[in-house]
Amino acid sequence: HSSSVHDYLREHIRTVPNWPAPGVQFRDITPLLQDPKVFRVLIDAFVHRYMDKAMRPDVVAGLDARGFIIGSVIAYELGVGFVPIRKKGKLPFTTVEETYELEYGSATVELHTDAVRPGDKVLLIDDLIATGGTMMAGKKLLEKLGATVMEGAAIVDLPELGGSTLLQTVGQLPLFTLVDFA
Ligand code: AMP
Repeated sequence: HSSSVHDYLREHIRTVPNWPAPGVQFRDITPLLQDPKVFRVLIDAFVHRYMDKAMRPDVVAGLDARGFIIGSVIAYELGVGFVPIRKKGKLPFTTVEETYELEYGSATVELHTDAVRPGDKVLLIDDLIATGGTMMAGKKLLEKLGATVMEGAAIVDLPELGGSTLLQTVGQLPLFTLVDFA
């Protein structure tokens, strides 16, 4: 992660201390989206990787809510469909659901039962990997429908929280991220 693209993107992520709770360093990606030149560099970094014939997914799945913003643009550029994995209670049709533990309490995410087909090769996208719980839940949902998650991708990894290691080892999920924050 030492190239100029990584540094350029890193410089456009805003850190907000003690938000939404004391002790949390929130990595705010909105400045990346706001500047059209930076937004293009960001999206092109993903598109470049997944345009490759061997890496091209059948479907892009995005995690609620910042995974929608970049995931849909990446899908559009790749010429494939986009499906949203949403927080419980938002999707109107029949769904599969997965509940996972948070620091305080739990969260449930849902996916429409017809979002993917058995055998589909899916690229799973979020903005950031912290404990890895959200991405792991998304992977399980897609697998419930018989799809294969070829890779998880995010703008930011927080390696010290252990999520990326957990996803790659226990979760057997290859990962692609652009910026690390220790
Ligand atoms: P996790 O499930 O712990 O990997 O958390 C990842 C999800 O929570 C992503 O959807 C992120 O948008 C959000 N998130 C967790 N920690 C942070 C943080 N420090 N800064 C920004 N977003 C975060």
